[in-house]
Amino acid sequence: MGDLPRYPLATLPTPITDAVRLRDALGGPARCPRILIKRDDLTGLGLGGNKARKLEYLIADALALGAHTVITTGAVQSNHARMTAAAACIAGLRCVLVLTSRYEVPALEGNLLLDRLFGAEVRFVPAEDPMLAVGRDEEMVAEVVREEAAAGRLAYVIPVGGSSAVGALGYVSGTAELVGQLRDMGVAPTRLYFGSGSRGTQAGLTLGARLSHATYKLWGVAVSAGEPEKIERAKKAANDAAALLGVEARVDREDLFTDQGFIGEGYGIPTPAGLEAIDLVARTEAILLDPVYTSKGFSALVRHVRDGDIPPTDTIVFLHTGGVPALFTREFVATRA
Ligand SMILES: *Cc1c(COP(=O)(O)O)cnc(C)c1O
Repeated sequence: MGDLPRYPLATLPTPITDAVRLRDALGGPARCPRILIKRDDLTGLGLGGNKARKLEYLIADALALGAHTVITTGAVQSNHARMTAAAACIAGLRCVLVLTSRYEVPALEGNLLLDRLFGAEVRFVPAEDPMLAVGRDEEMVAEVVREEAAAGRLAYVIPVGGSSAVGALGYVSGTAELVGQLRDMGVAPTRLYFGSGSRGTQAGLTLGARLSHATYKLWGVAVSAGEPEKIERAKKAANDAAALLGVEARVDREDLFTDQGFIGEGYGIPTPAGLEAIDLVARTEAILLDPVYTSKGFSALVRHVRDGDIPPTDTIVFLHTGGVPALFTREFVATRA
C-alpha cells in the first residue's frame, strides 16, 4: 500500500472464525462447505464494523488537508455515521452528521444514541424513497460546509458509506490481510459473501482481490436498490483507488456483480430469511448479525448451501461487516415480540 497516509483506528488483523457448529446446523460436512467468518465486526472502533478500515484512510486524508471538521451523511441508523463520529473523537476533529430519517424526531437508540455519545452534531433531513438509504442531503451538507468556513474551520466531506477512492483503499489492504490469513491456514476458498450497500467495500474488495491474487469469487449481496448508479460508483471508486496506488489494474462493470435476490422490501427493512439467519448464527456461533446488511448477505449463503449450489468440499468465507447497534432499536426488538 506504499506510502499512502493511514491513521490507525482499527484493531487489526481481525480474527477468522471457523464456524463448525453453524456448518453442522446446515447439514454438516456431507452437505455444507466449510464456513469461515472474517470478523470485521471486531475492528473495535466505536463498536466495530467495516467502516473502520475505510476511515483509517479517510481520516488520514482529512488531516493531511488540514481539516478541522468531518461531515458525513447516511440513514438515521447509519453504522458509517456512528464510526465516523468515533473516529473524529480519536483524531481530534469535529464531526457533523447529516442523517436521513422517516420521522421528524427519530428515536434516540442504536447508532443514533452512539452518535450523541461520541459528541457528534446531528442534523436531520426527511427521507424520500424508502428503497434507498438516503434523501436529499446535498443542500444541508453544503450549508454545514459554509457554516464551518464562516467559523474559520475547514470541513472534509466524507461521502455516504465512506465510499470514495480513498475509502476503498481500506478493503484493498483488508483483502491483503485476509488473503495472507487464508494462505497461512492453507485454505483456498471459492466464494466470499458480503452485504453490499454504498459499494465502497465492494470496490476495495474487487481491486484487492485482483492485486492479492485471491482464490475466491466475490459474492456481493445487495441490501438496497439503485443498482446501475451504484455499479458506476463502485467502478469509479475502484479505478480511482488503483490510480492512487499507482497500479495498472482496472476493474469493469462485469467485475462488480451483486446478487439482487435478497433485498426484500428495501433498505433497512428486515427480511424473513435475514431474521432466520440472525437466529441461526447467534444460536450456533454466538455471533451477532445485523438486520440491515449482514443478515441479508448471510441469507444468500444459506440459500445457496440449501440449494446445493456449493460443493461441500469447498471452503467459503463470509465477511462480517458489523452493524450490531441496529439490534438495539425498537424496530428490531419488534421483530422478536
Ligand atoms: C456500510 C455497511 C455495509 C456495506 O458497506 P458498503 O461499503 O457501504 O457497501 C455492510 N455491512 C455493514 C454492517 C455496514 O455498516
